[in-house]
This record gives sequence, structure tokens and C-alpha cells, in this order.
Amino acid sequence: MKDQDNPSRRRFLAGSAAAATAAVISKDASAQDADYVIDPPDVISMEVVGTDERFPIRRVFCLGRNYRAHAYESGDDPDVNPPFFFIKPRDAVVDYREGHPYPQGTQALRYEGEMVVALKSGGSDIDPADALDHVYGYGVGLDMTRQDLQQEAQRLSRPWAISKSFDKSAPVGPLYPVETHGHAVSGRIWTSVNDEVKQDSDLDLQIWSVSEGISILSHHYELTAGDIIMTGTPEGIGLVVKGDVLRVGIEGLGEIEVEIT
Ligand code: MN
Repeated sequence: MKDQDNPSRRRFLAGSAAAATAAVISKDASAQDADYVIDPPDVISMEVVGTDERFPIRRVFCLGRNYRAHAYESGDDPDVNPPFFFIKPRDAVVDYREGHPYPQGTQALRYEGEMVVALKSGGSDIDPADALDHVYGYGVGLDMTRQDLQQEAQRLSRPWAISKSFDKSAPVGPLYPVETHGHAVSGRIWTSVNDEVKQDSDLDLQIWSVSEGISILSHHYELTAGDIIMTGTPEGIGLVVKGDVLRVGIEGLGEIEVEIT
């Protein structure tokens, strides 16, 4: 059968002609003015201390078991198993002032106070000695976790996504730019529940420092401006219920107060 006799091929060619300058996937800035069949997703951005300009988020990487004492409390041995990465969707990141609605699908909601690192540039195979040059700023955040779903996933050797990547699972505070506040490589990190301190550690107890974390991650992904990294939680994790008030603070990066609603 000749091509012109094949109706499906004719339709395909007609469609190609109409879209001759388009690509299957477009990330061209000029396409921002394109007509979309649905409204484009929102840009998710973080407040920056000292300016009205905001930091737009591209991806959210998270480090697991990056403090020795927390690895032990999680039943792991950091000398055998190094820290690791997982991901949250960018719209999981929300303003801490909104509070944290107790999520659906769980009976065991866990808090993890963490430092957030925001990148202004990136690359692949970044040398640890150069890694901090890519950091825009630092902030305070929470990696909220549906612990019962995580334990089920662990038992069944399934991915952690449903326990970690749920809606609004990362309340954060504003970013403190390196330019004005320097790098956060050491300093107290703490979490309280209803004014009782539950986590009390120091950033310099991270197994993978920020430099090492960026470098290691860049061997697996091409990092770019807009990527943020949640750098893991110290020991003292626990559960919260509706009405509890979480506070997370990091020396030099302020503190956030998040009510479970
Ligand atoms: Mn975490």
C-alpha cells in the first residue's frame, strides 16, 4: 500500500506539518507564551531574607540517615550503609506559616527537622572543593513522614515515595543567602514539640557535609540552579498529632513554628 493511501499516515503527516516548528517536549522560555491545553503548573518559590526577590524551586532532593545517631535509631549502621537520597515533588514545599494539615492515609505522622540547601548553579561530577560555590543559601525545614507507610514500604522492599513525597510534606522557612549570611557548615540544629526539645544536634555531625552531599548527588544527577537539598535529620525523631506545635531552629538560620492542624 502506498503512503498516500494510508489514512493514519496521512493524518500523522498533516499533524507534523502543523507542528513543524514544535518539539514533543519544549522547555524553551519563549514557549511560556504558548497556548496550553490546561493552565501551566505554578512556579514554587521560597522567600529570601533581605530581598523581595524569591528563589524558584526546581527539584527537591533529600538525604536519608545523614547523622550517625539517627542512623542508629533507625536500625541502621552508618559504617556499613552510607546516607542515600530520595526526592519530594517541588510543590511539597510549603510556607511554614500555613501550618501542617495532618495528611491522609496515615496514623503515624513523624517530624524530621532539617537544614535546607538551595543551589544557584550546578553541574555533573562536582568536586567537593568546589561544591559550596554552587550554594545560594540555607534555611530551616521539616521532612514530614508518614511513618506507618514508610515501615510498610521497608517491610515489603518497596520505594519510600508514598511515605515521604506527599502533599505539603516539606514546610520550610525563608532562605538566608550566602552573600549576606555566609555558609552554614556548623551550628546547633534542634526541634521541639510543644516546647519540649526532642532533637538537639549540630550541623557538623552530618555524615556527608553539604560539600560532600552536593558532590555525591552530582555523580547521579546533573544539578542546576533551583535544586534544593534537605540534608537529613538528627536523632530524636518522633510522632505528632493534631494540635501539636513543632518548632525547628538552626543557629544563624532562624526558627520556624508549625502547628499540626
Ligand atoms: Mn529526612
